[in-house]
Amino acid sequence: MNLPADYHLHTPLCRHAVGEPVEYAARARELGLEEIGFSDHAPMPRDDFDDWRMRRNQLAEYVARVEQARRAHPGLRIKLALEVDYLPGQEGWIRELAAAQPWDYLIGSVHYVGEDWDIDNPQKLGRWQEHDPAEVWRAYCERLTRAAASGLFDIIGHLDLAKKFAIYPAEDPAPLFAAFWAAARAGGVAIELNTAGLRKDCREIYPARALLAAARAHGVPITFGSDAHAPGEVGADFEQAVALARSVGYTQRVQFTQRRRALVPL
Ligand SMILES: [Zn+2]
Ligand SMILES: [Zn+2]
Repeated sequence: MNLPADYHLHTPLCRHAVGEPVEYAARARELGLEEIGFSDHAPMPRDDFDDWRMRRNQLAEYVARVEQARRAHPGLRIKLALEVDYLPGQEGWIRELAAAQPWDYLIGSVHYVGEDWDIDNPQKLGRWQEHDPAEVWRAYCERLTRAAASGLFDIIGHLDLAKKFAIYPAEDPAPLFAAFWAAARAGGVAIELNTAGLRKDCREIYPARALLAAARAHGVPITFGSDAHAPGEVGADFEQAVALARSVGYTQRVQFTQRRRALVPL
């Protein structure tokens, strides 16, 4: 099987990943991937916002390390991208980031449901106990919808990240995504099949099959990402992700070059 491009790779600049971009690229070649994309955690306007992203003055170094991988692996197409946190009020900063380098795409992700709670952070797992899961999922989905509608992003990351620790609302969360589909269509964004979920407590690709089927029904295109934080995770479980995409009717995925998108066969 020809594996799709892995568009969600991190680098040690985010302070919680290991391995240089050249090593991720080498692993991709081993697997026979033709294309990958680095999308490390983008800086925030304030470097002390949290401790799991590159700092503002490291953007140029990030680009240089990706370019080093390009030089070392000329047979591999290597895209330059960022995973950008969406927080309401940060639109100006995100536009500034978008203009800073010739990005191939920007992944917009919601990790924060408030100013200081990144719901996927294991160190803040206790906060889940203080809230009704339905409330957290609702707040998460509202932000996700705003991210999609903002027009700032090409891809929305790990659609149902709220399930990471397998904490679910009492009722089926699918209706919480209803507004998201319209926003995704209007904002012209794709979603990713992110296999990191298989390595978390939820033991399931992001998004769940029912959500992916809804995405397909609403004409939302897809990309694939391992969310690798180590070279060994590149392309992880991609056969399973492709099978999932096909099972709900996808026959194409999107490719990005300098933020222009093209549909290619799956
Ligand atoms: Zn990360
Ligand atoms: Zn993320």
